[in-house]
Amino acid sequence: MAKVTFREDLCKGCGLCVEACPKKIVLMSHEKLNARGYHPAQVEEMEKCIGCAFCATMCPDCVITVEK
Ligand code: SF4
Ligand code: SF4
Repeated sequence: MAKVTFREDLCKGCGLCVEACPKKIVLMSHEKLNARGYHPAQVEEMEKCIGCAFCATMCPDCVITVEK
């Protein structure tokens, strides 16, 4: 299974990774706020991830790392 990690405090909440994910499993957190005051992106249902890394490629701030 692929593993997706976020350097959460660098996220600016732009949502580009949410749009990029073909499995629609990247979502903006509704509860959390990061150090920059944004709701950070996160993956729910990691078991559905196919490791395509579209999310990481799309992120302008290099927040996301995908490991297979
Ligand atoms: S690696 Fe692909 S499937 Fe997994 S969260 Fe990122 S965009 Fe979605
Ligand atoms: S693309 Fe990067 S900065 Fe934008 S919401 Fe996703 S993780 Fe955050």
